[in-house]
Amino acid sequence: METGQPVLAIDVGGTKVALAVVDAQGTILDDEVVPTATSSDGDAIWAPIGAGLAALLKRSGDDVTEVGVGSAGPIDAPSGTVSPVNIGGWREYPLVRQITAAVSGATGSDPRVLLAGDGHCIALGEHWLGAGRDFDTMVGMVISTGIGGGAVIKNRLFAGTTGNAVHIGHTSVNAWGARCVCGSHGCVEMYARGPALVEAARAKGWQGADGKELTQAAAAGDTVAIEVIDNGMRAAAAGIAATATYLDIDQFVIGGGLSKAGAVIFDPLRRHLRDFAVLPYVVDLQIHPAELENAGLLGAASLALSLTGRGPLEPDELIGLTDAERP
Ligand SMILES: [Zn+2]
Repeated sequence: METGQPVLAIDVGGTKVALAVVDAQGTILDDEVVPTATSSDGDAIWAPIGAGLAALLKRSGDDVTEVGVGSAGPIDAPSGTVSPVNIGGWREYPLVRQITAAVSGATGSDPRVLLAGDGHCIALGEHWLGAGRDFDTMVGMVISTGIGGGAVIKNRLFAGTTGNAVHIGHTSVNAWGARCVCGSHGCVEMYARGPALVEAARAKGWQGADGKELTQAAAAGDTVAIEVIDNGMRAAAAGIAATATYLDIDQFVIGGGLSKAGAVIFDPLRRHLRDFAVLPYVVDLQIHPAELENAGLLGAASLALSLTGRGPLEPDELIGLTDAERP
């Protein structure tokens, strides 16, 4: 292939799917955003994504042969299927097969498609071009509607056996806690995700509507907002400290909707971390705000570029991620 040939990056989320043609420097040359359809029929959810993909490739991707995909999880990387908690119509849905067929149909090529979790792609994006660019070992995570993450260890993505490693959001921080939607008890996400903070504040009489208003209220000194954020960030800190402790990683990059609020989130988070990250090798754990608006999409691009040897990861460092069409 030519060295300048762009790749296709796809970021599948519960509310939208971003598709982009990206060059080796991480510049988005063209893109499409498709709202994620709500349906119990998996193919009905796929149809508008496939149409957007075809339109994008026709405009500016007719020479694309490498594709990186980040999807909300859980995923099953070895089989190329996804079962996102927040996309109910997709259970073991053959996303890699659909994308391969769509790209092949649009370009006449025989594309290579790599699938990773969205948290992993966010970590890869920040590691490549964002706040993690100076670290060869780091965790990237999001605190937003959900909480997820991924680890880059010595410039390799730590995918895990099925592609779901470092699922911080569904790590229990309260063994006696209520049952989580995932089936476990007392998960980080139950306490620290944006909607949980809003619900907790409203139960205490706060009148606002969403996480953004809640962080604005906290910044303005609202005591209820400050208290519920503090409580939620204590759960997040316990989960982050546990992750740091068992992975032996002390650099964390945190993005997502809530993290955009800055000090009202990061100050209590850092304070509670001092209570949990206590062993000598994690006591200096550093938290960095994410820098990229589209880390997941750029992380997917970094996967695809790595297939060509031009990305931040060596091709032989992608073992464990699916290349399902070429086992
Ligand atoms: Zn859970």
